[in-house]
Amino acid sequence: MQMRRKKGWMSLRVDELVRETHDTVTMRLTDKDDGGRPFDFYPGQYLSLRFDDLAEKPVVRSYTMSGSPCQTDHIEITVKKIPGGLVSSYIVDQLLVGQHIRALGPMGAFAIKDEAQELFMIAAGSGVTPFTSIIREYGNKCPHIKMHLLVAYRSRQDLINWEVLSQSYSNVRVVTTLTRDTAEGFCFGRPDDDMLREFFNGRYEGIKVMTCGPEELMELTKNHCRLHGFDGVMTESFF
Ligand SMILES: Cc1cc2nc3c(=O)[nH]c(=O)nc-3n(C[C@H](O)[C@H](O)[C@H](O)COP(=O)(O)OP(=O)(O)OC[C@H]3O[C@@H](n4cnc5c(N)ncnc54)[C@H](O)[C@@H]3O)c2cc1C
Repeated sequence: MQMRRKKGWMSLRVDELVRETHDTVTMRLTDKDDGGRPFDFYPGQYLSLRFDDLAEKPVVRSYTMSGSPCQTDHIEITVKKIPGGLVSSYIVDQLLVGQHIRALGPMGAFAIKDEAQELFMIAAGSGVTPFTSIIREYGNKCPHIKMHLLVAYRSRQDLINWEVLSQSYSNVRVVTTLTRDTAEGFCFGRPDDDMLREFFNGRYEGIKVMTCGPEELMELTKNHCRLHGFDGVMTESFF
């Protein structure tokens, strides 16, 4: 299939801002000139966003699409505010509907195409965004792709993209662990080897594994899988 894309920096309009949590927003962006979604992408890919007026020099940051390629009317990007962070604080605290943002992309190989495989995804915090996109794209619609997501959040106040992840899907299992909050329906504690063992449940062959989150989590996942004979973990660092 021919992927539709724009050359160079494009201008996107902020059409809607949806508050996800106390420190996270989802932006709905459309093509400034034509409206709608200006390009095609694979779930898991990201855009570079450029802000010319936040500092002396333009600043560029990458953000993964949390929306799905099947949403043709806009792109969604979910941004978590990093304390003291220049761009994330601006987006979460100050950005307004109607403003324009320069964007380049889509890009990135941390993505899946419609492959008949069992997919294990391990994330923490804002690292869930590529997996939100994948689940939105393939959840229910592609029952031949079995998906498992283990996601860690700090507390019930930090459930990013929860509207998507808390839905029920015929082919998606979501395991959510809270690291600083005990609550019914959630696991408790940081992902560790025992949690991963339970999550994988002995399935280490013919699978695809993707992880996005702190370095520590990605290392844990790679080491765990390696120990069980699987060496192809895909990682995406947000730093
Ligand atoms: C491929 C890719 C995809 C990404 N997708 C997303 C996404 O979907 N949603 C999202 O919220 N962010 C995402 N990020 C992170 C994003 O690009 C920025 O790094 C983040 O928003 C911080 O930028 P800032 O300008 O606010 O912070 P800065 O002003 O650059 O940094 C402020 C301080 O925060 C630290 N810091 C920088 N980045 C992070 C981070 N990610 N986590 C913790 N501390 C950090 C810095 O070391 C510094 O001390 C992605 C990054 C990459 C590389």
